[in-house]
Amino acid sequence: MSISQEKFRQMLKEKGLKVTNQRLLVLEVLACHKDRHMTVEDIYDLVKEDYPEIGLATIYRTVQLLLEMQLVDRINLDNGCVRYEIGEGISTEGKHHHHHLICRTCGKVQSFKDDWLDELERHIEKEAGFHVMDHELKFYGQCEECLKKTEK
Ligand SMILES: [Zn+2]
Ligand SMILES: [Zn+2]
Ligand SMILES: [Zn+2]
Repeated sequence: MSISQEKFRQMLKEKGLKVTNQRLLVLEVLACHKDRHMTVEDIYDLVKEDYPEIGLATIYRTVQLLLEMQLVDRINLDNGCVRYEIGEGISTEGKHHHHHLICRTCGKVQSFKDDWLDELERHIEKEAGFHVMDHELKFYGQCEECLKKTEK
């Protein structure tokens, strides 16, 4: 049991959800591996360590539910792959957060924290009269490791 478990319990209750082990474990796994951007299978592998009797279908349903409740965020990659991370609202860093660097070779999703877009948002508001509330940004390319391999 960790400090964050208490927080997760509270959040599930606030959303009117029953507190179950699998819900807590999925949230905890995502919170502990914030930068890994995991697939449902990745989450399953980690939850299984603590909870061997759990099935992949249960993890899948749990993730979908947490997604609907906005406790978990989804990243859709353009190859149809879907990855998950702990919800923006409940991560300790608070709101906005990071952008995604997606490796076209190995499929890894990295986080990048610097945000220089405030100025652009202000510019958009001024020029287009459009009030920006959020943005989503993905960069596609090759990660450092894949780059090293191709250089060899
Ligand atoms: Zn790569
Ligand atoms: Zn992310
Ligand atoms: Zn941003």
